Amino acid sequence: MSQRKYNTKIAIDGPAGTGKSTVSREVSRRLKLKYLDTGAMYRAITLKFIREKADLSDLEAVKKILADTSIKLTDNQEVFLDGQKVTDEIRGAEVNKLVSPVSAISQVRRQMVDMQRAIAEESEGIVMEGRDIASKVMPDADFKFYLDASLVERARRRRNELKDKGVILSEDEVITEIKNRDSIDSRREDSPLTRVLDAIVIDTTELSFEAVVDKIIKRVSDRLSYQKAR
Ligand code: C5P
Repeated sequence: MSQRKYNTKIAIDGPAGTGKSTVSREVSRRLKLKYLDTGAMYRAITLKFIREKADLSDLEAVKKILADTSIKLTDNQEVFLDGQKVTDEIRGAEVNKLVSPVSAISQVRRQMVDMQRAIAEESEGIVMEGRDIASKVMPDADFKFYLDASLVERARRRRNELKDKGVILSEDEVITEIKNRDSIDSRREDSPLTRVLDAIVIDTTELSFEAVVDKIIKRVSDRLSYQKAR
């Protein structure tokens, strides 16, 4: 078994389409840390609400569904909802449409944040990725990164991602989807998408995936070797 290189907590936040997931996964692989995609958890609970045809304004129904749901993420990024594998289904159009409204419900957030903190607690270091990781879930993270990119570039990446899955959407359609999600995610009352003051901001618009990963690894390694040398 390979040893974990650092026992450190890394938060990576940012809006949709910045390449957060791919970058975070690779950073965790290179630093031998656990990786948690918190968006996948919000997607899974959204799928449950869809399946239950839940009325999102009925708080009692929402609470009941939350109490009756199990969400598990494996180390190789498979997602299980109530014991059933839903890794692909949570990336579909229906979930995309509803995930931001579901994620704006405080009861949903409380349950997801508790799970995320418990996972961080039991890991020997973690790369956790989402919208409120540095601001809410792990405000004590050793490193806080915020990835951003222009809307046009984010739409281009998202469109390519969908194309790889056989889904063809026009640039306008993708821009509308991203804008809607960004708007709900950053305006909701409970822990909106936030760039914390001490975040290291990386604009990925003109950067390759490898360049973004290298930047993050360099920041982490530089600081950790500086601390070790003192
Ligand atoms: O990261 P991804 O795009 O898969 O996230 C899907 C949605 O989940 C986001 O648009 C947002 O509504 C919600 N989310 C959140 N808080 C997080 C991660 C994701 O509200 N920490």
